[in-house]
Amino acid sequence: MTHDFIPYGRQSISEDDIAAVVKSLRSDTLTQGPCVTEFEQAICTKVGAHYGVAANSATSALHLACLALGVGTDDTVWTSPNTFIASANCARYCGANVNFVDIDPRTYNMCADKLAEKLARAKTKGNLPKVVIPVHFAGQSCDMRAIHALSKEYGFRIIEDASHAIGAKYQDNYVGNGAFSDICIFSFHPVKIITSAEGGMAITNDEQLAKHMRTHCSQGTTKSPDELTQMPGDWYYEQHTLGFNYRMTELQAALGLSQLSRLDDFIECRHKQIANYEILLKSLPITLPYQADDNYSALHLFPILLPEHNKEARKGVFDILRQAGIGTQVHYIPVHTQPYYQALGFKQGDFPIAEDYYARTLSLPLFADLTHAQQERVALILKHALIANRVMRA
Ligand SMILES: *Cc1c(COP(=O)(O)O)cnc(C)c1O
Repeated sequence: MTHDFIPYGRQSISEDDIAAVVKSLRSDTLTQGPCVTEFEQAICTKVGAHYGVAANSATSALHLACLALGVGTDDTVWTSPNTFIASANCARYCGANVNFVDIDPRTYNMCADKLAEKLARAKTKGNLPKVVIPVHFAGQSCDMRAIHALSKEYGFRIIEDASHAIGAKYQDNYVGNGAFSDICIFSFHPVKIITSAEGGMAITNDEQLAKHMRTHCSQGTTKSPDELTQMPGDWYYEQHTLGFNYRMTELQAALGLSQLSRLDDFIECRHKQIANYEILLKSLPITLPYQADDNYSALHLFPILLPEHNKEARKGVFDILRQAGIGTQVHYIPVHTQPYYQALGFKQGDFPIAEDYYARTLSLPLFADLTHAQQERVALILKHALIANRVMRA
């Protein structure tokens, strides 16, 4: 019997989404029009923040955020090793040094205790970070209260990489409301919670940071009368700094806006699917992701963990799932083990908890349109793969 491939994540596109994009395509402006502004405001309203700057990707938004916080060649930025490379690369774009803080073995997020220890050591050596970028892995917020308290003690700024966590809550507030950070980044890549095809947004409550990011998103130019040195006519704009073209298009914003109206449904759906998985996988000797009490996760990913003593079985289990059309994936290869970062001096063994987690993890399919029958198939094939690789007995 043949089956369709089940990816680990994918977009859910409705007829309304399609109509919204078509409408934008028929409008006068394909870029720099009203949809982008509307999308920025709608996201801010949703999460309870003041300013949103849309960009063509979360990677671009992370770069804009680092620039706005003044990250430069003499600075250091810390992030989690258990993340997509973009969380670290954004600091490298600014010429800064990158370092990492190992993860909590239960949440797989940056460990606040390890951060505190590393900060104390950095203070005595005089190499404190300028910015820390906690990543809300799989959609569950980091311990932002603790990280924020450390930022006050040690004087660093915070960018939340919430690429996985739009619509998630931390202690009853939406991630992105700015209570514990300077800037928060969302991604709208198709595997994320909502999509604009490519796209991202930087959210802040600080007007100056917002202005800086907006200027750098569009070639470093301004048309705002209070910033111009002269006003010869309506054609006039000025370049004050070296910026980029990181703009989101109207088509992307129209799709993003339409998807935003489905955000709560998407996340509710993911919670139901997790509940199904918990039943379907109950008898298997694997660790399911832990959900902290003070969080409502957006559940971007569903990473399972093989037992410590069955690490070497991961490749075999992965291969059987893939051969059976189950699009499992591994999130994440620890960033510091990438050849690019090894060339900067990092090595295997530097962040052992992230490395141990990486060796044992597999993400199972989780996305809004995943059916119960597909989940049953995933569970069945996973059980078969665990038996075939001697992780459990038949
Ligand atoms: C997806 C992702 C990014 C980058 O998002 P893009 O929109 O693809 O640039 C950054 N950080 C994390 C944690 C991500 O998962």
